[in-house]
Amino acid sequence: MHPSRSRSRALMWLFGAFFIGLLAISGVGYSQYNVAAQDSLQPQTFTPQPSPTDNGGSAIWTVEDVIFNSQYPRGGRFTIKVNNSIAKIVSAQVIYQHNPAARQRANATFDADSGYWIARMPGSDLPQWVAVDYYWRLTDAAGNVYQTETINDAYTDTRREWRMAESEDIIVYWEDSLPEQMGDAVIEAMHERRQFYYDAWGKLLGYRPRAIIYDGDHPEVLEEWSYRNYTTEPGATTYLGGFTTREYGAFVGIYYASRESVRRFAYGTVLHEVGHLYQYENGGMGFSSAIWFIEGDAEYNSDHSSSLRRALQVARQLAASGDLPPLDEIGRTDRMAYDVGYAFFKWFTEKYGEGAHLELMQLVSRGIGVEKALERYTGMSFYEVETEFRDWLGAPNAALPTMMPTPTINFFASPTFVPTKTPKP
Ligand SMILES: [Zn+2]
Repeated sequence: MHPSRSRSRALMWLFGAFFIGLLAISGVGYSQYNVAAQDSLQPQTFTPQPSPTDNGGSAIWTVEDVIFNSQYPRGGRFTIKVNNSIAKIVSAQVIYQHNPAARQRANATFDADSGYWIARMPGSDLPQWVAVDYYWRLTDAAGNVYQTETINDAYTDTRREWRMAESEDIIVYWEDSLPEQMGDAVIEAMHERRQFYYDAWGKLLGYRPRAIIYDGDHPEVLEEWSYRNYTTEPGATTYLGGFTTREYGAFVGIYYASRESVRRFAYGTVLHEVGHLYQYENGGMGFSSAIWFIEGDAEYNSDHSSSLRRALQVARQLAASGDLPPLDEIGRTDRMAYDVGYAFFKWFTEKYGEGAHLELMQLVSRGIGVEKALERYTGMSFYEVETEFRDWLGAPNAALPTMMPTPTINFFASPTFVPTKTPKP
């Protein structure tokens, strides 16, 4: 069945983009989270795209049907039926987006039998339930251009049952096989973390993110739309907890009932992934090669205290052992990027204060690179910054003998690895 979306039609998302509504299935009341906070702390949920001006030229345009038909997992189909009073329509194009930033275009073809213009949205590597916000742009032979209002829809999955819950902070979709309290837990974690995000980033996300949560113990649904393989090897000490991309405006969460509590997932993985969405919105960071910085910062944005204490402990033990590598030698798939990266932000905000995160990210957002931003903020060379951090962490060999050049890595997703047990230092 569809998740109940009783309020969704009344809601518009960020310029037509991301995320809506009222709690439905989870049973948590929306008003419970409708806190009286200062204006700036109100999540952004409603930034309508301005209506087109000077629309349509000298022609009179009559739009009869504007429909998005999700054909998950094979994408979707946009259709429109439109009449023009003076000239033949020569081109039709859909402009659509899953988040406020990444617009995509699809050219339509005219189907003479039905009288509809039809355009396709590809579905490759696209999770169900992302927003599909779109408008049509039509041109006639006389050169008149007409643009429809933005329509807010979603890449719905009608093949199976999902649950859905929403608050001011987030919209949560989770597979029916997962615990029913998932929505409440995510909503609560996001609500509690709102002030932190605001302080750390200077503003809240300009849209309401979506959490799309899959059953990691039974990854069939996840693998239905994704080209990746999510099966965890038996005995593995890490597994994929979630990922996001710049395009989704949402993140994929992978929950393993066999391995973790709902609370740990909500306060750990979810808040970590939302941290990545803030990074994207902050600009300049998404394509950074400083994995320790990206993942460490996402961990710093999470809030599962025992996991974070453990991360710090692991980093300290690693430092004490003398085996702590230089930061820029820590790779993407290494759990170390999370633990040591988190420890770095712990050191940084202890030394310079909580407000330092925001100031540092504002420098990073200028695109000058992580190391340059740190140098500019601290007034030290990056070598000195790293040495002081290593010393704080307890490394006997705090001063590094040489600095390795930073590799350039382009990546698509940003996985979260959560250990199944405390790794041995
Ligand atoms: Zn991550």
